[in-house]
Amino acid sequence: MGFFSSFFSKGKGPKCMSCKKNVESHESILTHQSYAVQAGATQRARDIEKKQGYVCKSCGKIYCKVCLERHVVNAQRGAACPSCGGSFGYLQ
Ligand SMILES: [Zn+2]
Ligand SMILES: [Zn+2]
Repeated sequence: MGFFSSFFSKGKGPKCMSCKKNVESHESILTHQSYAVQAGATQRARDIEKKQGYVCKSCGKIYCKVCLERHVVNAQRGAACPSCGGSFGYLQ
């Protein structure tokens, strides 16, 4: 089994490495958010954003937005992976 395939095991979405909550792709977040905004649910739209998944471009570790901001963001370098120092991008 490849390293990356373990993050996408059957029937389960990708999860945050830190809090183990399910995270969603950027596209999925945007879709859900636009529904919430159209319904006037701005607090809900903000909650949805917390489920945005971020993936390390170097080692593939996944974090949610909340944990990324809490553990990973470095004032000098921006978001850098705690394991390898790599940069993060949106989970696609
Ligand atoms: Zn998390
Ligand atoms: Zn990394």
